[in-house]
Amino acid sequence: MTTIKLHNTKTRKKEDFAPIDPDNVRMYVCGPTVYDRAHLGNARPVVVFDVLYRLLRHVYGADHVTYVRNFTDVDDKINARAAESGRKISEITAETTQWFLDDMAALGALEPDEMPRATQYIPQMVAMIETLIDKGYAYEAEGHVLFAVDSWREGYGKLSGRSVDDMIAGARVEVAPYKRNPMDFVLWKPSSDDLPGWDSPWGRGRPGWHSECSAMSYELLGESFDIHGGGNDLMFPHHENEIAQSCCAHPEGGFANFWLHNEMLQVEGKKMSKSLGNFFTVRDLLDQGVPGEVIRFVFLSTHYRKPMDWTAEKRDQAKQALRNYFLQAFVLAPSNGAAEEECPEIIAALADDLNTSMALSLLEKHDDSGNVAALRFGLKVLGLKPSGNWFKPTSLEFEKDGFLLSLQYYDTLPQNVRNQIVRVLGAYAHARRNKNYPEADRLRIAAQSVGLDLRAVKGRDAHAEAHLDFDPAKLEALE
Ligand code: AMP
Ligand code: ZN
Repeated sequence: MTTIKLHNTKTRKKEDFAPIDPDNVRMYVCGPTVYDRAHLGNARPVVVFDVLYRLLRHVYGADHVTYVRNFTDVDDKINARAAESGRKISEITAETTQWFLDDMAALGALEPDEMPRATQYIPQMVAMIETLIDKGYAYEAEGHVLFAVDSWREGYGKLSGRSVDDMIAGARVEVAPYKRNPMDFVLWKPSSDDLPGWDSPWGRGRPGWHSECSAMSYELLGESFDIHGGGNDLMFPHHENEIAQSCCAHPEGGFANFWLHNEMLQVEGKKMSKSLGNFFTVRDLLDQGVPGEVIRFVFLSTHYRKPMDWTAEKRDQAKQALRNYFLQAFVLAPSNGAAEEECPEIIAALADDLNTSMALSLLEKHDDSGNVAALRFGLKVLGLKPSGNWFKPTSLEFEKDGFLLSLQYYDTLPQNVRNQIVRVLGAYAHARRNKNYPEADRLRIAAQSVGLDLRAVKGRDAHAEAHLDFDPAKLEALE
């Protein structure tokens, strides 16, 4: 069996991964807070852990992996969105949840086996908080319940590599007067009548953000499981707090054995932010006609532990590469040769701490050498599936001046570019008919230099074919 190596944040080392139970490999990943469309950065952990999920399913068998990813549907950002829009919270969270699932499916992400919502696990959170109070790890103060970090000094801060004292020194936030230690974090907080709330031993209230992941992972995966993932922005405080809650409530278990964190996504070298004007959602890109699999391909080109830069250039290169691979795998190769053949090199690349860029370069190798079976396998294991016919040539035929003109082009060519090609094609046919061969040759040669083939059949029909390297930007010069 393939040995998977993963970089474990807990030990800061690449380690051999050995599941607690190979018959049920268990992974938990922190999911989105549902109040708005997912931005492009939010998609990165989804794609990264989808690749890992696919690899685990390949190695251990699809029925032997349990992947849990939550939806945070109780949160102050959601409450604020409801207040400003006048809409019901349940409406906002239901709509946003569906948007998230649709957008991530467009990126080729498989749905996790379980997608628990925080609001469905309130009793489990209350029970966990009661346990923490009983064991002396948490205390009630002014309707809040707080985790006392001083009660677990030996563990708190280990994942992110900080001591409680350093954290206090670095904290600049105003400290609530009811906290015993400035680093104590909220497990439960009171809700006013206009906010979502549930009855609890501490009055009507709602959970703090960190409570849900501990309660849900315990319920669905047990006190010890194999992998916990998320963006590296979650390492502190969210993951640190999850560990404190889970390890103190269930000391018989070890919580997560492996912690994996993806680095952040940037746009054209800058942090993505609304104020910089470079903020966009996955849906924005899809609506602009960027196929989801192209977005995925760009993501896979950077290792998950490195910052990833989204650029228009990478998007275009990814599209070109994928078009070639899809054509080779699904159009040029005989369709009855559906055979797929496992490529051990691709699996080895992924098993080496998800070396996805290496896996992509192996796709290129298989494309170059015409190894269609391995290419198909690679595309599948990487979750790169055509979302439509964008990569297939389409043809268009029409009559003009008694000529039959035909154009082979790609769906992705915008209408105005198609019109331009048709004009060039018309000029070419016209020159041929008038036996103006120097002009016809000039057009043919010039068209060739931009990746467009012009051909005439017996002086009667003319045909244009846009190549893969066709560059519409240079077309204007021909007219
Ligand atoms: P949030 O909506 O901020 O709670 O983030 C949801 C998920 O998206 C978390 O797993 C974050 O780690 C991840 N995330 C947010 N921003 C980025 C980014 N720029 N790059 C990569 N992941 C991100
Ligand atoms: Zn979490």
